[in-house]
Amino acid sequence: MKKISLLGATGSIGIQTLDVINSHPESFKLVAMSFGSNIKSAIDIIEKFKPEFVAVKDENTYNEIIHYSFSHNVQFGYGHEALIEAAVYDGVEVLVNAVVGSVGLVPTLKAIENKITIAIANKETLVTAGHLVTESANKHGVQLLPVDSEHSAIFQCLQGENTKNIERLIVTASGGSFRDKRREELQGVTVEQALNHPNWSMGAKITIDSATMMNKGLEIIEAHWLFNMPYDNIDVLLHKESIIHSLVEFTDRSIIAQLGTPDMRVPIQYALTYPDRYELKNGKRLELWELGKLHFEKADFTRYKCLQFAYNSGKIGGTMPTVLNAANEEAVAAFLKGQITFLEIEDWIERALEKHESISHPSLEQIQEVDRLTRNFVQTLIS
Ligand code: NAD
Ligand code: MG
Repeated sequence: MKKISLLGATGSIGIQTLDVINSHPESFKLVAMSFGSNIKSAIDIIEKFKPEFVAVKDENTYNEIIHYSFSHNVQFGYGHEALIEAAVYDGVEVLVNAVVGSVGLVPTLKAIENKITIAIANKETLVTAGHLVTESANKHGVQLLPVDSEHSAIFQCLQGENTKNIERLIVTASGGSFRDKRREELQGVTVEQALNHPNWSMGAKITIDSATMMNKGLEIIEAHWLFNMPYDNIDVLLHKESIIHSLVEFTDRSIIAQLGTPDMRVPIQYALTYPDRYELKNGKRLELWELGKLHFEKADFTRYKCLQFAYNSGKIGGTMPTVLNAANEEAVAAFLKGQITFLEIEDWIERALEKHESISHPSLEQIQEVDRLTRNFVQTLIS
């Protein structure tokens, strides 16, 4: 029985993680969780999964939920301290980090220090401070198991392989909601159009990131840290069907890929059962003959400026990816609130990057400071 803490339980990854836990009750037990503002969904989850500790994002929601009478004993906390408390709660063996944004960084670092295995969906944590997370994981002998579908695919392709034989990682990209639009056609696109992803149903932030291709950019940096791979050996391949989740090329020119119908429960469950595999409840079988064809295109860096920003920031390293991530988080939030246009997301990120002088090998405090300053800078641009 694996004891699990789930940060971001009410989100897209959170709900699918609960589905996996629910289909294997003999193997997994939810002991702690966090949620943001969806109190109704949180109450249902708490009643059903009976966690011992729940971290609530803000005090108002906390004050509301503590008056609800649950059929079991459950403790509540709020704010960032509570998020950390949930991550390292007594007895937790696996932390599924499925919050959105760099808010997931410190809870991840604390869990690593407590020798808790990390199933990481929260890519912003690896983008903003990948060196701190991986160095600490190595130091404490803690496994970082990928939940992002591309990284899970690469991880699966690498089982039994010697890392010295890897030539290149090929990360596939669906292209997001505007993949059939030219750059000139992006002027004036709406939030609603941007949220309409062709293949995946996900949280709002990552869906916008997919439309700008920043999601793939963040994933390149995520792959760099998870697999200790130089940026020149990580490629992006446009593949609109999202059937091949990613590929690895080896020195002998052999390429191994991982395929499947798009279903995030597969990488989530693999992170929880690794190195074993369990049956996927109601998992849809992939029949390639039904599809007949799969499509591939070269990634265009002038069409998708965010992809170029991410490669540049990753190669510069230090605090540059921290700026990339923080500027993106702020710009996407502003776009979702209708404060800026779709193309301004790129403009504001570009301005934040241009202004920054990277600090190499930054400490946690330096990262937090750069994160804060970048958010303030983008806020002033917006207002
Ligand atoms: P989401 O917006 O659907 O869910 C985020 C969850 O985090 C919610 O439960 C929210 O309440 C909670 N949360 C946010 N801020 C919090 C805070 N300060 N304290 C406590 N809880 C907080 O997002 P999502 O789509 O599930 O994505 C989560 C992460 O997984 C992101 O980093 C995303 O990039 C990554 N990811 C998601 C998918 C997907 O299919 N959704 C795929 C790959 C990677
Ligand atoms: Mg992904």
